[in-house]
Amino acid sequence: MRVGIGYDVHPLVEGRQLFLGGIEIPYNKGLLGHSDGDVLIHAICDAMLGALSEGDIGIHFPDTDESIKGIKSEKILSHVKELIKKRGFSIVNIDAVIALEEPKIQPHRTIIRENLARVLDLDIERVNLKGKTTEKLGFVGQKKGIEVFAVALLEKQ
Ligand code: MG
Repeated sequence: MRVGIGYDVHPLVEGRQLFLGGIEIPYNKGLLGHSDGDVLIHAICDAMLGALSEGDIGIHFPDTDESIKGIKSEKILSHVKELIKKRGFSIVNIDAVIALEEPKIQPHRTIIRENLARVLDLDIERVNLKGKTTEKLGFVGQKKGIEVFAVALLEKQ
């Protein structure tokens, strides 16, 4: 068994679409980033790369690489899934906390979990997601950004 932790933050800005777990969430702002800014997928990828001792997402997908500008984060997630397979591991479960003031995550929770499970070839029961506000404190509370903490457990096949 191998465990890994992931963490990511992206700023919320006007004029961008908001993607969380590969799902477009209706909101008046979106996450800024070299990719589509999908902070949830990035944190989950870092958790899984951590479990593999494979560094982090920035090593595998450098933000200086112009060829991946605007890349859909689902592609990064698929890449990490393939790496896990190649290394002879499988995913036991994933858990994530997404900290944001708005929009509410609850109405989108199931579809996000379904999509992550689909990309990772997992049963939805192995992918959990929790939305939290920070009680209006800090950059999250001021709606300036979204922050995600994730853990992943892998097991050797
Ligand atoms: Mg990121």
